[in-house]
Amino acid sequence: MLEALKWSHSSLKTYKTCPHLFKQIYILKDRRELPNARLGNALHEYASNLINKKVNLLDDILTKWQVSQEDRELVPVAISHLTQFIETTLAKKRIESEKRVECQIGPYSFVAVLDIVFNFDDRRHIYDFKFSKSSKYYKEYIQQAKIYNYIMEKVYGKKPTEVYLYYPITNEIIPIKDLSLSEDELVSQIELIIADRKFETKTHKLCRFCQYQKDCPAFHIEEP
Ligand code: SF4
Repeated sequence: MLEALKWSHSSLKTYKTCPHLFKQIYILKDRRELPNARLGNALHEYASNLINKKVNLLDDILTKWQVSQEDRELVPVAISHLTQFIETTLAKKRIESEKRVECQIGPYSFVAVLDIVFNFDDRRHIYDFKFSKSSKYYKEYIQQAKIYNYIMEKVYGKKPTEVYLYYPITNEIIPIKDLSLSEDELVSQIELIIADRKFETKTHKLCRFCQYQKDCPAFHIEEP
């Protein structure tokens, strides 16, 4: 069954975080909204509407994504930066947003959704929006950037490429310098997951934010 899954950076990252969480999401298809992803989802939608010149009702978007009151305090500054970024940095370029790209990696299907991609000056430019500057996520951000570059090359051919992380809350653009990636490494990560028969829990500090914690065997003591 897992052989047929469309793999993504997100699914590989989820397995690394906790195999049990991976099983809930990608095998049992038990999808629950991550509370700490809601602000990011809302701002992604706002940016996409802005780029595609669609009606953009911020209050409706924040309500739809159930953005918490605490996170709403970050919204005005993030929106102001995002708007400025899209209207100036990206002005007059033929941008594609939320671009879905699929390819084969070894025998497996892989999918990525790119926040922003465009060609300019004979180079490919990819921007990925990030909403947390916590250093604990940075390694994963770099791996994701490498995967995006790799998939774009597979689908559209090699081209000098620049990949950036863009942080709307602080208005920073960070270039990712090393985009090299081994296909074998990706395939072996996937095969390790396919071979797993247990999908055990892996507890860590972030369990307190896990939307599956209330049903998680690591936190649920069975009565004798
Ligand atoms: S609470 Fe922790 S151990 Fe349990 S599923 Fe979530 S991440 Fe895994």
